[in-house]
Amino acid sequence: MTLICAGSTVTAADPSVLLITIDTLRADRLGSYGDAHSSTPFLDRLSRHAVVYTDAWTDVPLTLPAHTSLLTGQPVTRHGITGNGHPVGSENLLLPEILKAQGYSTAAVIGGYPLVRKFGLSRGFQMYDDRLKSVNRTGVPERSGAAVASASIDLLESLKAPVFLWVHFYDPHAPYDPPDPYRNVCKDLYRSEVAYTDRCVELLMQAWTEKFGSETFRIIVADHGESLGDHNEITHGVFLYQETVGVPLLVLPPAGSGPVVGLSESSVPIHAIFDWILVKRVPSPGLGSPEHARVIYTRYPFDRYHWSPLTAIRRGPWKYIHGPDPELYNLDSDPGETLNVLTTNARIVEFMTREIYSVKIPKPETGRAVTTETRMMLESLGYVAPSGHAEMASLPDPKGLAPALAPLERALNAVDHGLWQDALPDLERTLTIDPDNPVANNNMGLVLVRLNRGDQAIPFLKRALEIKPGDVQVMSNLGVAYRRTGKTADAVTMLRAALTETPDFTGARINLVLALYTLGKLDEAQQILQMGTEYDPEIVNHPAVKTLFRE
Ligand SMILES: [Zn+2]
Repeated sequence: MTLICAGSTVTAADPSVLLITIDTLRADRLGSYGDAHSSTPFLDRLSRHAVVYTDAWTDVPLTLPAHTSLLTGQPVTRHGITGNGHPVGSENLLLPEILKAQGYSTAAVIGGYPLVRKFGLSRGFQMYDDRLKSVNRTGVPERSGAAVASASIDLLESLKAPVFLWVHFYDPHAPYDPPDPYRNVCKDLYRSEVAYTDRCVELLMQAWTEKFGSETFRIIVADHGESLGDHNEITHGVFLYQETVGVPLLVLPPAGSGPVVGLSESSVPIHAIFDWILVKRVPSPGLGSPEHARVIYTRYPFDRYHWSPLTAIRRGPWKYIHGPDPELYNLDSDPGETLNVLTTNARIVEFMTREIYSVKIPKPETGRAVTTETRMMLESLGYVAPSGHAEMASLPDPKGLAPALAPLERALNAVDHGLWQDALPDLERTLTIDPDNPVANNNMGLVLVRLNRGDQAIPFLKRALEIKPGDVQVMSNLGVAYRRTGKTADAVTMLRAALTETPDFTGARINLVLALYTLGKLDEAQQILQMGTEYDPEIVNHPAVKTLFRE
């Protein structure tokens, strides 16, 4: 029977769909994935009534790209969204657009900044709740699991079946900062965040079942895992090992739709879920496996550290990771990817290399494309902002420089807390291992500026800008370093360049105002300040500029 609904093509047989994505949830931290110390009683209980995919994986270990794979049904090598902050364009048709056209009510509740509407995944959702009211201790907006669950439960009241509801929990993402009483329930804070999220998911699932019953399609999946120190990585994004590529995937098809309980060893990329929801409303075993569908890719090592991107491909038990120093693992005999068996399996490597070369990988550019105006300003200071593609062959393999990641993470944590002196030794350690690391150079510059050692800061910031021309944070820090060391005209040029790229960058604007004021260009300083009110009305009340222009 077709439901009476204008423009609708859904039928009474079309179930409501709940898609829960849990950010950064590492599969082996769930009891149903073998964790003897699991902190997920709800998900473990739920697993007894679900299909548990023991070999589910993301094709890109980053939040926006992975969710783009989920909502487009395309791997990252096709949709091309390789990093957070790269908006998803309308050329990518999204699952909610299709379901809405079919007559579904579509709604989403988002927990983390990488998915707010300006990044493009809100298309097709009639309601897209991305109100992130709090900021975490690194200053990035997010919303707690309890707030996400509560907003979702409130939303359920207004939704009429059939519904497609996507709910995104962000809590297991760093920084690990669980609320009481979860803070102390586990031996580490990551597990405590996972325990807290487990409870929030339980609250949502209870409310969903009360409203829609069990004749619905429910999917719980992570966008990627977390390294937690394995393979020298602390968080995620750089490497393609199983701790970040493997994800938990629990599926509860509508009751009565066939055998549903048990483990499935089918190898399933998260972009396959698109088809399950759209076409069959049930999970199906595996994909037809065209090469694109089995490729895993990360450009993050390049975008952040100027290291080589990595590409991987799976076939049977084999996983081949392609980079300057390639690796081959047998996941059956070596699930921890500890023994690179590349040299003893030449034919497999040759075959899989050919497969990777048959897939067109989105090419990274050298830094952001800067505007002509900014390019001219940078060139006036002797910086060259190249365009075109980096010479990939010359980039280092992330493995060799990975020992730099732990000290760098510690240093960035100290910087986040304003502990400038504490950050110095770890930044020095990082730069000893990887002298051309743009993040380490930038932060070394920032720390030295904060310690009133601006003259020493400038070479580090210049190096960071040479590696990543057009990086507005570096431009701003360098502008501040110039200002603090009396090179005020250079400071104006650099801060103006940063502001041209990012007009809503309040910090750069304030420093530009101060520099112009120092040069006696009072009218221009006031004009630049006033222009800033368009982006931040409170800028005129900032303590650094508040008293400058009093009559
Ligand atoms: Zn994520």
